[in-house]
Amino acid sequence: MSKNATPNIGSLSLSSGTQSRCCWYCGRGEETLATKLQKCGRCGLAVYCNRECQRGDWKLHKAKCKRLTEIVVDTDVKNRLRSGALKRQLLTLSEGTVILTIRDPDITTIGDMNLAVERAQFEAPFLVCKSLLRVDLKGCTKLTSVGSGAFWDCTSLTSVVLPDRLTQLGDSAFQDCTSLTSVVFPNSLTVLGEAAFVACSALTSVVLPNNLTQIGLAAFLDCSSLTSVVLPDSLTMLGESAFGCTSLTSVLLPDSLTMLGNGAFGQCSSLTSVVFRDSLTQIDNGAFSDCTSLTSVVLPDSLTELGEQAFGGCSSLTSVVLPDSLTELVFAAFGRCTSLTSVVLPNSLTQLGKQAFQECTSLTSMVLPNSLTQLSEAAFGGCTSLTSVVLPNSLTQVGFGAFSECTSLTSVVLPDSLTQVGGAAFCECTSLTSVVMPDSAVLGDYVFEQCDALLQKATFAGFDSVELYLRHRYISITLRKLVLRLLGKYNRAVNNAEGTEAEKHASVLAQFPADNSGSLDVGLFLKAMSASGGDGEKGLVGYILKFV
Ligand SMILES: [Zn+2]
Ligand SMILES: [Zn+2]
Repeated sequence: MSKNATPNIGSLSLSSGTQSRCCWYCGRGEETLATKLQKCGRCGLAVYCNRECQRGDWKLHKAKCKRLTEIVVDTDVKNRLRSGALKRQLLTLSEGTVILTIRDPDITTIGDMNLAVERAQFEAPFLVCKSLLRVDLKGCTKLTSVGSGAFWDCTSLTSVVLPDRLTQLGDSAFQDCTSLTSVVFPNSLTVLGEAAFVACSALTSVVLPNNLTQIGLAAFLDCSSLTSVVLPDSLTMLGESAFGCTSLTSVLLPDSLTMLGNGAFGQCSSLTSVVFRDSLTQIDNGAFSDCTSLTSVVLPDSLTELGEQAFGGCSSLTSVVLPDSLTELVFAAFGRCTSLTSVVLPNSLTQLGKQAFQECTSLTSMVLPNSLTQLSEAAFGGCTSLTSVVLPNSLTQVGFGAFSECTSLTSVVLPDSLTQVGGAAFCECTSLTSVVMPDSAVLGDYVFEQCDALLQKATFAGFDSVELYLRHRYISITLRKLVLRLLGKYNRAVNNAEGTEAEKHASVLAQFPADNSGSLDVGLFLKAMSASGGDGEKGLVGYILKFV
């Protein structure tokens, strides 16, 4: 095969030339070739750059070669479209045998941009015209729009050449054109309607023109062969479910883009890399959900909103870097990212939403930023590899089931700032043995339910419940620290005192009860002494004396 014959079936390329004739195999236009296109000797309709292209196409072309019909419409186009005469003619011919050229220099629209999809399903000008193989509209020099559903369900249609002044493609214009491999988009195009190319399962690549600002809802949804997309620098918005394309491997987002709509790249299961630019401020719900081949993500500093399940179910995602502009991770933003091992959370983050990292089963450790105040429901539920987590001193609330089923978690230090621990927060953390829990924390129901190792420890220490055990443990840890500190102070005072050993002790003891008994440390100690039958300040002194 020569260099000129690289098969490129299925490319959608920019239109730049004036002639619409292009090779039926590689899709290249005649204007880009050194020699003229050569016709197939049998039908005289199919044209190729060279022998190699002709041979390459023969397998497909063979079946149709002798049955091909060329229909050229020069005049009375409006009437033939409106009356349905052209459609009726096409419906009488067999599948994939018609090469239609419309070249009316006065026609401005084919079909109706305002036709509701429900009506387009019955009235669109070429609806279900399965005889259409190729369509060339290049000669319609004033054509600005191809209306709703115009070529809907033309399942044999392989290529379309659009004219240079076209600005709008209507909703569902080429929906379900399952053989469509080539469309030439003119640079004049500014509007791409909803579902315009939905389920065009033969499209392999798309180059979108330079003036396009918006890609409508589901425009390329279910284009299951689409592997590459070049988005223009004019694009500001990608609509809902714009690309749900299982073969799409990489996407470079343009500098102009500020918003990615709901599910924009959802279910793009071959997508391995996405380059985000600093213009992006919003990534909506499910924008990359179930992109099961995506391995790493660096989100831009401009991002302020990340939607629910934005990266949910990205099961190959191993690392994520989140920008300092984010304050909240909402519902299941990274839920079910089962390969995720490393996450850098920004210092701006105050809330981790429900199920934010639920079932991230490879996550072994997590450092939460000092800005975080709230961990919502099941934020780390089912993170079965998580062994350690450092909770910041800013945290006040741990939600329901926040760490439930973290079966590898062995120790947790809850910060003194914590006021509420939601129900079942550590439920089924079967490896958990060490918990430091502050006095300030109010516990919900079943916080440590089925924490077998912890329950065993509590029982062994003679406690009826894990909670009582942890409360006691906290007090004893605090007391131990306190006593050691008081003792150090007492010893220093004795060393600095004068007189005999007995006189030194006596003078320091005389000062001690009055010393800072209102302070938090001493106060807590006194409270504990009273509660355990000691007698306040005297008890304190007596307690210290035991250690002297
Ligand atoms: Zn060719
Ligand atoms: Zn032929």
